[in-house]
Parts: sequence; C-alpha cells; structure tokens
Amino acid sequence: MVQTGSSQEKWLDQDDKLLWHSMKPYNPDGTMVVSKSDGSWITSHDGKRYLDAMAGLWCVNVGYGREELAEAAYKQLKEVAYFPLTQSHIPAIQLAEKLNELLGDEYVIFFSNSGSEANETAFKIARQYHQQKGEHNRYKIISRYRAYHGNSMGALAATGQAQRKYKYEPLAPGFVHVVPPDAYRENTNVSNPHELASVKAIDQAMTWELSETIAAMIMEPIITGGGILVPPEGYLKAAKEICEKHGALMIVDEVICGFGRTGKPFGFMNEDVKPDIVTMAKGITSAYLPLSATAVKKEVYDAFKGSEEYDYFRHINTFGGNPAACALALKNIEIMEREALFKRSEEIGEKALNELRNLLQTHPYVGDVRGRGLLIGIELVKDKESKVPLAVDKVNEVIAFCKDEGVIIGKNGATVAGYNNVLTISPPLNIEIDDINYVIKTVVEGLKKLN
Ligand code: PMP
Repeated sequence: MVQTGSSQEKWLDQDDKLLWHSMKPYNPDGTMVVSKSDGSWITSHDGKRYLDAMAGLWCVNVGYGREELAEAAYKQLKEVAYFPLTQSHIPAIQLAEKLNELLGDEYVIFFSNSGSEANETAFKIARQYHQQKGEHNRYKIISRYRAYHGNSMGALAATGQAQRKYKYEPLAPGFVHVVPPDAYRENTNVSNPHELASVKAIDQAMTWELSETIAAMIMEPIITGGGILVPPEGYLKAAKEICEKHGALMIVDEVICGFGRTGKPFGFMNEDVKPDIVTMAKGITSAYLPLSATAVKKEVYDAFKGSEEYDYFRHINTFGGNPAACALALKNIEIMEREALFKRSEEIGEKALNELRNLLQTHPYVGDVRGRGLLIGIELVKDKESKVPLAVDKVNEVIAFCKDEGVIIGKNGATVAGYNNVLTISPPLNIEIDDINYVIKTVVEGLKKLN
C-alpha cells in the first residue's frame, strides 16, 4: 500500500518499488519525485528547486502553474466530461477551427491522445487515401534515420534510431529510411537544395523503391530527439517537391516543433511549404492534459467521401479529443497568443543561440551550436576536425554539473555509434530573461569544467 507519511523521502521508497519509469538510465543519480511546479521551475521531493530548461519533455510551452488552464478543464468537465468523437462536442469543433487558423489553410482534424497515436493515424490515412484513389500498391512510408516518431509499432518502425527498436522487432513493415539532413557534416555549399545529398537521398529512395509503392514521407521540420538537426535552407520545400513528383503525401511531425517551439506556430512555417498532413501533441495543451491531433488537408479528406459503405476511415479512439483536453488546449493557445509567445520564442531563442555561439566559439569540444526559436542543441565532439562525437560520460558530466547548479537540460542524438552528444535546451516559451541567462551561464560553466 502506498504510504502517505509526511516525509517526502517515503515517496521515493515507494516509487522505487511501484513505478516502472520510462528511460531509467536518464536518471543515473536517482529519481526525482516532483512535488511542486511554477513558471519554469519545479521542486523535487528534497525541497530543491530546479529550472526546467527542457519544459518537461519539450512540452510545457506556457510554463507550469497556469490556473486558467485548470479552470478551463474544470468548467468543461462539469458541462460535458466526455462524449466520443463518433459524434461531436463543442470544444472539439472550436479547437479544430482554431488549429485551422494557426495552420493557415483548410485542414480536417482527427484527435487522439499522444504523438505516437497522431502519427499512427497519419500513416493509416495516407495508406487508405491511395486506396480510395485506386492506387492499391502505395503503402510504403519514407522516414529519416535519427528521427523519433513514437513508441507504438508503426511509429517506432518510422523511427530511425536503431537502439530504440532492435529488441522489439519485427515492427510494422513498409517503412524505409533515408539519411537525414545534417548541416554540420553535410556539404551545404550548393546552389540549389535539390543538390543536397540529403535531398537526393529522398528522390533516390522513392525511385528505387518504385514511386507507385510510396504512400507518404514523414519528417519533423527539425529532427529533435536525434540531435536538433536543423536542415539546410530549402530542404523541406525540396522534399515536398520530391513527394509531389512521386505522388506521395508529406506528413510533417510537429509533436515537438509545433506551438511556438521554433518561433512559429508550426515548424514547417519556417519554409514555404504546405504539408498534406500535420501531426501535433505536447505543446497543444502544454502537456497539462493528454491530447494530439492529425490535421489532414481538405483535398486528402475529400478522397474518403465515397458512396460505398466501407469507404470511411475505420479508426476509432476512445479518449481522443476529450472535451476537457480540447477546452484546455483552446485556453492554452489563447495564452500563447495573448502573451505573444511564438514571437518571444523566436526572439529569445535567437539571442540565446548567438550568445552561446559567441561564448563557446573557441571551446575545443563544441563542434556546433544550432537551433531555431527556443530549441537549441550544442553538439560536442572529440575534436573539431574529425567531428567524432564526444564520449557520453563527458556529456553526462556537463548535465550533472548543470543539475547540481539547479538547471535541467537534456542530451540527444542517436545512442548507436556513440551519437548521444548533443546537449539540448528547450525551456518554457515564457521563461524569464534572467532564467534563460542563468541557463546559458550554467551550461557554459559546465562545459568549461570539462577536460
Ligand atoms: N514525434 C516526435 C517528434 C516526438 O518527439 C515524440 C515524443 N517525444 C513523439 C512523436 C511521440 O509522442 P508521444 O510520446 O506523445 O507518443
């Protein structure tokens, strides 16, 4: 039985016995039981406060402790706590309308609860779309190495990080991977983005796999979990053009990049592209409640409007689009707009990026500092010539130093072949200026201590 004693330490003991945590090695120095949160700060069981420069898992975009969000959910729970979206309810309709406004085009929205589900939904829609149009051979989904798209069998199959997959295989078939854009290692000195190796790789894969078998390509605007891979300029637009050439749909995974993380409502808006399908989660509610969405271009949706009984999309999600989650999401977006958080992310992010670049320019282990908006990565290497990733224990030393100083940052990459060498910073978008300055100061100090 769970103890309810006054000592916070008791929670830690019970936690150890009862909870199976995700990514346990993430906590080499023990689990932290978080008991309070406010703004960009959390308090752990031992009373210590931390500046959460990862916004949880890149998701608490408006920061912690927003009473307005709790009130929006409470009010909705009293009115209509639940009704399945086989029928409808007002918060879902209102949220779909708001998402269309942010997306800047006509999309039809399918709600689920997590990023993984939003991507699974997108894959099923893409496959059935081609069936509806009589192209029965199109089932393959192209994705990139180093990308993460979720934990379920299809989303994990789309994921391009072998270390997360190999113990669970075979996963869903029909997924093909291509090299990701990596502006730090790739030759970006080209006159046309179609000459980039990472763009050619998409065209080649779609050609060699046979265009007529390709259903879609999925990509994040910036690969996040794989190490903040900001693509060379024009990559996204060129990728979309290649999808069109081969008759494939483009799915953009905005699970992390959406809702201001990169300084725009959605990450794809940093380039002039209109994806066929956009998936989103995390920032849609700033993670206060589970909710995700798969936004589908009207033209794609229209292909499902047949006269046959079995033409509809056979996909159901019990909790997806819960009324309280939708009402809370609406309030969350209202806060983002009222406080101009997208712009804030763009401006503060750019300033932080420049400052980090200046301060770390001559650091022997800092190969690259990159990002967009409040999504920043610092790639650590053994030396700047070879660009070989720095050993992970050294990366961990910096993270541990920051934690001791009260700052939580992340590390990402692709653990395979040692690539877990990118320090990541992704704080709430309303982080105070003093706080982001403290994050920068602490990370730089931590790096200076490395030898
Ligand atoms: N896509 C991306 C880009 C993600 O980063 C994640 C989760 N971090 C997912 C999908 C899966 O989301 P969830 O954990 O909510 O299923």
